[in-house]
Amino acid sequence: MPRQGMGNMWFDEFLSKYRAGISHEFLLYFNVRDLVDNERYIEQYIYDEFIKARKFSIVAFYDISTGLTFLEPAMEREFHLITSNRAVNVMNALPSRIFPFIDKALKSTKMCLFINHVEKIIPAVDTGSMSLEERVALIWTCEWSNSNKISAVGSTVFLLADNLADVSRELLSSAYCVEPILVGLPNEAQRREYIEYLLRDKSVKTEISIDEFAKLSSGLSKKSIKDIKLKAEAEDVPISFEFIKEKKHSVLRKEYGDVLEFIYPEIDFDDIGGMDLAKRYLIKNIVEPVKKGDLRRVPMGILLCGPSGTGKTLLVNALAKTSGFNCVKIDMSRILGQYVGESEKNFKKCLLGAQSQEPVIVFVDEIDTVFRRGERDDTGVNRNIFSEFLQFTSNTNNRGKVIFIAATNRPDLLDPALKRAGRFDKKIPILLPEAPERAEIFRVVIKKYGFETDVNDFMPLAEKTENYTGAEIDVVVRKAYELASERDGDKAVLTKDILEEAIMKCVPSTQQVEFMTMLAIRECDDRDLLPEKYRELLDRKD
Ligand code: ADP
Repeated sequence: MPRQGMGNMWFDEFLSKYRAGISHEFLLYFNVRDLVDNERYIEQYIYDEFIKARKFSIVAFYDISTGLTFLEPAMEREFHLITSNRAVNVMNALPSRIFPFIDKALKSTKMCLFINHVEKIIPAVDTGSMSLEERVALIWTCEWSNSNKISAVGSTVFLLADNLADVSRELLSSAYCVEPILVGLPNEAQRREYIEYLLRDKSVKTEISIDEFAKLSSGLSKKSIKDIKLKAEAEDVPISFEFIKEKKHSVLRKEYGDVLEFIYPEIDFDDIGGMDLAKRYLIKNIVEPVKKGDLRRVPMGILLCGPSGTGKTLLVNALAKTSGFNCVKIDMSRILGQYVGESEKNFKKCLLGAQSQEPVIVFVDEIDTVFRRGERDDTGVNRNIFSEFLQFTSNTNNRGKVIFIAATNRPDLLDPALKRAGRFDKKIPILLPEAPERAEIFRVVIKKYGFETDVNDFMPLAEKTENYTGAEIDVVVRKAYELASERDGDKAVLTKDILEEAIMKCVPSTQQVEFMTMLAIRECDDRDLLPEKYRELLDRKD
């Protein structure tokens, strides 16, 4: 079968590194148990596309549970010939017993070796606390990568792991030549091609188009997509938006735990009151350039600064919906709550998971609670996670495909490295709404809840709610509904009087808000993003 038009980035990367003689030992990681094209899994694919034409005399597989096996009996015979039949009784044995024989074969004949689940053989623990067995396996695999004899003979080794962070770091240290290759999840075009192939026999009904299915299945492997089809077939139900969403949730939850939340945005910019400057910026610099395909203009990251409850989360949702990007939220507090080591692993996996959703908006709320100034010198978890985050957010290959948006009400506490140019290109202040904006918020919030009202002009109410955040206006509206329901039951109508009564009963919290507003203004480096009344303050800031 010919290779598919879309190409497989990992395979091309492997082949070019192999051809350039960069290495003969490769660590393939992440989505390694998935279909590569419509029918072939990774070993089969590598066999067809790489091994077959290169005349390897032995193709063998090692797995800790099944031991050493061969593609064909003749290959096994040749292996025993090379090892003078001394390996016959240790084919199922642990690495320390069988690896010396594999070593001999790798150096004597052109052999291709797959080591599956390498993380079980050489796990990510300090070399000091490795078992003797693990240390021996590590030494052999490292030594193979540097061996001139192996490269002269033409042998090639593939190590396979689900999660790079589960494998000993030693393996990738610069002293050795093991080349890591990321096997990513299928992108939208690859998913579409696979879905077309899957659904061609018309054995299941679908309520959505192939394009919608492809878009909705972001973050899923082909195997999971196939499961969706099989499940629909078994349950005799059509594949619908809800069906995919439910299945996707359970797959992703299993994969990433509670750390990544997948958001299906349902609101757009019209459902947000006010924030005209921020909206305009996002439309001009993200929505429009993305539509035109001019990705150079799209910022790598954006920092939303301002008091809580001013609609920062809402804005991210609306941006996702309007731009057509997927949206995931990383809950950092859950990552940091995990065991040392675990949290790092999970964080890496989460970033890859988030990236696999591209085009995607990655939202980190309350970022100041995790990456605080001065805490970077801590040893351990925080520092490693921080550097991982910095690396990821400054990867310019992601421009236009992954947009980081972080929100904070304490930008002053953020680590300066995070704020340096090129990472969060833009800092947008999201401040308390002014009177016309508050009137707008009254209108959209009442509409959101579907409440009846006889008020047409909300300006008088807006005048009475100075210093209220959007979230506090939301509280006022719900309070008014409660009051109206108590009085009129099902026929509750929000009148001007009832809304005013609710305003009296719901007092805004002003203390922190003023301070947070001042911090957001100080952080801002673009006058155009500040409401008129604060511009002068920005000019005076020292
Ligand atoms: P933040 O992320 O800044 O803390 P949120 O976006 O979570 O604020 O806002 C909380 C709630 O307040 C929203 O779900 C919405 O009901 C209401 N809200 C806040 N600002 C606005 C706004 N500008 N327009 C409409 N509703 C708003």
